[in-house]
Amino acid sequence: MNSYSVFLPSYSVGVDSYQQIPYVTRRYGKKAIVIGGKTAISKSKESILEGIKESNIEVLDFVWYGGNASYENVEALLNNIKVQNADLIFAVGGGRAIDTCKVVADKLDKPMFSFPTIASNCAACTAIAVMYNSDDTFNGYYYPKEPAVHTFINTNIIAEAPDNFLWAGIGDALSKQSEVLLATKEKNLSHTPLLGSQLSCACDEPLLKFSVKALEDCKKNIASYELEQIALDIIISTGLVSNLTSDAEKYYYNSSLAHCVYYGSTVVPACASHLHGEIVSFGVLCLLTYDKQFEKRDRIYEFNKSIGLPTCLDDIDVKKEDVAKMVKKMNGVTEWYCAPYEVTEENFIQAILETDEYSRNK
Ligand SMILES: [Zn+2]
Repeated sequence: MNSYSVFLPSYSVGVDSYQQIPYVTRRYGKKAIVIGGKTAISKSKESILEGIKESNIEVLDFVWYGGNASYENVEALLNNIKVQNADLIFAVGGGRAIDTCKVVADKLDKPMFSFPTIASNCAACTAIAVMYNSDDTFNGYYYPKEPAVHTFINTNIIAEAPDNFLWAGIGDALSKQSEVLLATKEKNLSHTPLLGSQLSCACDEPLLKFSVKALEDCKKNIASYELEQIALDIIISTGLVSNLTSDAEKYYYNSSLAHCVYYGSTVVPACASHLHGEIVSFGVLCLLTYDKQFEKRDRIYEFNKSIGLPTCLDDIDVKKEDVAKMVKKMNGVTEWYCAPYEVTEENFIQAILETDEYSRNK
């Protein structure tokens, strides 16, 4: 058997988590370059400078990442002399900014630290970057060798971000436990994915318990306990599971039928006005219907209702006659095969319509 390494994220969380920057980065160098989105940089700049002010860390510059996770933007950053001179890369922002930095850090073999400014997905601590072409079409995945060395979650900044990011992040995180448990069901799991599937069981309950309050607090910009629990669920729990359940070569249990519904929705133009996590949360209901987990389906249905996540086709602007076209698109994506049995188009169309029916009859 060949040897292998597993790199897992570590993190600091709280209103003053940036105070930990000097301690966490102390062995990696002194010159930092901050790369991120424009809004993200403006929201975090002061706190980052405050966090390092008593230390010998020097910020060489704050650089805009270019607006999209594209190889053109990666190239521009690789050619930036200050990026080349930095010992540390601070990746600031949402998924696309952080994903861009992952590629830059990997290519330069420099340590990267992530600073998510919204809690919308687990990009801050996963070892995968979703890359786009400059016209915004999907390009492919890039697999850096390691995730960020450390993730700093400043809950004040998360609380001040628009609450729809958190709302959609909840919808996306809601898929993790159901998808991983379905994808790993009846599988003989080796150590790493076994850990991942067990950890996925820590994803659902905090979402069901704290989301309502967390969303209220986000609207009021309050970094409450509940908001922190939700941010940790969205960024850290799902991120850990993702790192443990996907391997570029050996296995992929990280996602399943809920994300298929999202990929299917890309062929329906009206869906473009809905956020990724929004559509995925409807996909969770379809997955649970397909797998006949009706009790859990009903529970998630109530949850979605309680925070305004979609429960029927109307909610995501899909017409019944679009469903077959959507399922056709799903058949063939990696996630279509992440189930313990063969998924057929006919049965999945049926499951989607049944989910819709259930919701409309409530
Ligand atoms: Zn997702």
